[in-house]
Amino acid sequence: MSQVKFYLGEDIPLELHKVRVVQKLHLVPIERRLDAIKEAGFNTFRLSTLDVYLDMLTDSGTNAMSDNQVASMLQADDAYAGSQSFIKLQKAVEDVLGKKYLLPVHQGRAAENVICRAFIKKGDIIPTNYHFTTVLAHVLENGGKIEELLHDHALVLHSDHPFKGNMDIEKLEACIQKHGVDKIPFIRMEASTNLIGGQPFSMSNLMDVRRVADKYGIMLVLDASLLGENAYLIQQREEQWKENSMADIIKMMTGLADLVYFSARKLSSSRGGGICTNRKDLYGKMEALIPLFEGFLTYGGISVREIEAMAVGLRETLDETMISQSPSFIKYLVESLDKLGIPVVTPPGVLGAHVDAMAFCPHIPQTEYPAGALAAAFYLISGIRGMERGTISSVRDENGDEILADVELLRLAVPRRVFTLSQVKYVIDRLAWLYENRDMIGGLKFVYEPPVLRFFMGGLEPTSDWPEKLMIKFRKDFGESL
Ligand SMILES: *Cc1c(COP(=O)(O)O)cnc(C)c1O
Repeated sequence: MSQVKFYLGEDIPLELHKVRVVQKLHLVPIERRLDAIKEAGFNTFRLSTLDVYLDMLTDSGTNAMSDNQVASMLQADDAYAGSQSFIKLQKAVEDVLGKKYLLPVHQGRAAENVICRAFIKKGDIIPTNYHFTTVLAHVLENGGKIEELLHDHALVLHSDHPFKGNMDIEKLEACIQKHGVDKIPFIRMEASTNLIGGQPFSMSNLMDVRRVADKYGIMLVLDASLLGENAYLIQQREEQWKENSMADIIKMMTGLADLVYFSARKLSSSRGGGICTNRKDLYGKMEALIPLFEGFLTYGGISVREIEAMAVGLRETLDETMISQSPSFIKYLVESLDKLGIPVVTPPGVLGAHVDAMAFCPHIPQTEYPAGALAAAFYLISGIRGMERGTISSVRDENGDEILADVELLRLAVPRRVFTLSQVKYVIDRLAWLYENRDMIGGLKFVYEPPVLRFFMGGLEPTSDWPEKLMIKFRKDFGESL
């Protein structure tokens, strides 16, 4: 997209859409927010949106739809089998992702369930650039293990490396040599590696991975949930692809993979998901699992209205004015925080801004969950709901000991086309205040810990009365202000 330049020199992103439907938000006083976060067990997942001002929990299923998407939902073909809506989706998948065979699933993790059940056997190893929470859970559930093969620079949080999501090809070779081809049913590449700050991989890296996959005859699986933005950043950051359209870049990426799956809650700004391939043999291995876990093969547990919106949304992914909106707002947010000296993952990635909680709160030991504590503290002083991406989002080992996460991040998601620039400025303002008062933030401990995906419903409590003290300081500095 040709960036619009401002005459007065301000460097801000410009919205290339207008708002036609709005929804009221609730900015409740800090006294209510303190009660709310206590009721939620200091876990932002458990907050009610009536207590949330800006919902930056996730970009999953929270993106704004276009007028054309909403319009398409009225034309949906309600049929258990053979729905015309599904045929439209198949056509969109073929046109945009270049894959003929499509299996619909109710969301991204459902695709992971089907793929892992179909291809993983006990003792298998899945090399990946980096794991995502749900794929890790499904790999483990099927008796497999993940091996993360990021480049060493990927976990340098403050960096200017344009492609921190790249897989280290030497590590991939070594991993295959070590475990043997028979133990590796597929290599998994995740577009815009979610958990390390929405960092993309380059096209040349994906080509290198493909070469290794071909050399050993191993299948390559692409998690395309954040594909559009990864493609956009390839166009912005990789010299050879500067002149190419989104359509070309996306087709090239998906063309390198044998199997592509996605969460439509992100890709296409709708709801649902899909698995697609041009290989009939792979399709055949998964087909029977769809009616078992998802629904009939022409709806897969998704409403036909959402299937219509998905088809339109997939095509809109090719529109640079649409796909660039979220990354350009994130760039503004990240660069503003960086200028204020607030520790944030750089370069700006996709899906949100990621605050480095270990640098923000170096006084909180990792066993007291600095990212979880920062998420709770930030909600308390702003009404903004972010998400912990650190040790709480990790798992315990066989002995029940914590596996401390590589990074402790507060993720502030920027759903596509949802927030205005003044709302983003409010985020920056409140984070700046919290950074000034960071010494007041304390740790958390678990009081209720579910055995699987504990971060969703787990309950915690503060290790001292730090939330009350933080509230008193807020009132002192802001007076009666919300
Ligand atoms: C969100 C996400 C998923 C899971 O998708 P859901 O629709 O939330 O189940 C899988 N992979 C990546 C990279 C994601 O960002």
